[in-house]
Amino acid sequence: MDGHLCATMCRCQRSKNMFGKHIKPKIVIVGGGFAGLNAAQQLKSSRYDVSVIDPSPHIEWLPNIHEIISGEKKGDELRLSRNILVRRLGHRFLMNRAMEMTSSTVLLDNGMKVPFDVCIVATGSVNNTFGVEGADQFALPMKSVDQCQVIARKLHRASLSHRTTRVTVVGGGIEGVEAFGEVMRAYRNRPQFEFNVVESSDHLMPNAPGHLDGKIRSHTEGFRVNYHLGKKVESVDHEGICFMDGGAIESDITIWSTGAAPNSFLQRSYLTQDANEWASVNQYFQSEARENVFIIGDAASPEGRPLAKQAFHAIDMGKAAAQNVERLLANKALRQFQPSHKPQVVTFGDMDTFMLFRDFAVSSSVLGAAKEAVYTLGLLQMAPPKTAKDLVHSLDLLQRSARRVYLPTLNPLNLINKLPKSKVFS
Ligand SMILES: Cc1cc2nc3c(=O)[nH]c(=O)nc-3n(C[C@H](O)[C@H](O)[C@H](O)COP(=O)(O)OP(=O)(O)OC[C@H]3O[C@@H](n4cnc5c(N)ncnc54)[C@H](O)[C@@H]3O)c2cc1C
Repeated sequence: MDGHLCATMCRCQRSKNMFGKHIKPKIVIVGGGFAGLNAAQQLKSSRYDVSVIDPSPHIEWLPNIHEIISGEKKGDELRLSRNILVRRLGHRFLMNRAMEMTSSTVLLDNGMKVPFDVCIVATGSVNNTFGVEGADQFALPMKSVDQCQVIARKLHRASLSHRTTRVTVVGGGIEGVEAFGEVMRAYRNRPQFEFNVVESSDHLMPNAPGHLDGKIRSHTEGFRVNYHLGKKVESVDHEGICFMDGGAIESDITIWSTGAAPNSFLQRSYLTQDANEWASVNQYFQSEARENVFIIGDAASPEGRPLAKQAFHAIDMGKAAAQNVERLLANKALRQFQPSHKPQVVTFGDMDTFMLFRDFAVSSSVLGAAKEAVYTLGLLQMAPPKTAKDLVHSLDLLQRSARRVYLPTLNPLNLINKLPKSKVFS
């Protein structure tokens, strides 16, 4: 650790105010998503003065937001109040956007400056349209509950009309396939709908193990679905999509899911040089630009060990970074992060579910209950019931999941029907 920083940290531990009381070190967390809130949970309010900054009032359970598209889940089932969660931890919640930071303060959108001894940056990612002309204006992103509700409303409105509606999902990666599955869940039997899936690779889910392309496509045989694989989008407008090879398709509702880009806060704060760059961090999550700044979750690019931008990594990073912040403030050696390898569950509407391991995948519709279990347990872990009212809310959540997913999926007759269809893909 650098001598100046070490001195600052030691001073933080020893400082007393004019009444002789110890002043707690100030920790600011920018971004209260999976990574930021898990870091906040780790830090004790009795020892640290913690502020969590986020412009949005709710944390959203992003791994299930595609289910809003079909109406399978409602927005309120996927949101928790940040203010309640943060205040329960004894910390301060500032519902603001952080504009930029120096090595000791974060500047907010209301002009306020929030001083810190150590800052944890967890600003996640934003929708990436790769500069495709018209994509920001005419295509619908699906990175938040609000955005998925917009898509759901447009699809629902179209279903009330007899006019043909062409729905296109751009991006055949995991999120695109999950979104398309939800569109098919709700509308595949409606005769006025036609469906397109566009992917620049020549197969769906190109970064997933198990070559699942054929399996996914087999579920949509017999429906009005066209796959445009190996196609790069050149432009989007209100009539449809033009491809770089000169082809074009008509599209009335275009859903955009081609990946993530870094949040501009990183570049504005000189934590990266380039707008498309993720923030480089060392093995302890310290920014390469500033030692008292830790960067975690989707925003971080850990040295020599790229990690998939996944919620479970963000959660583990949040906990590990908070422990390192405590160690830094206590002048102890920092600990290296060991990522865990958890399988990822990917749903394809009500037609199939895949569990992705490192080198292979398992497919079975009974796995749908696993995704629901991750969701219900995840929400309960994030907001464990503290009052009778909370408990009623939690039981309601479990009951809704049980009614909708667990019981139909785990019904013994269904199991007998579905088990022979389970398959391993390597
Ligand atoms: C549709 C979809 C499906 C997904 N499915 C899965 C899945 O099945 N499994 C899985 O593991 N992962 C999944 N992910 C990925 C997962 O959600 C992310 O990896 C995870 O949310 C990253 O956590 P994070 O804390 O880094 O960022 P986020 O959870 O995105 O949180 C970032 C927070 O920072 C805040 N913020 C941004 N800018 C500022 C600023 N300037 N000032 C203050 N606050 C700011 C934002 O408001 C946000 O609350 C999915 C993501 C999406 C979008």
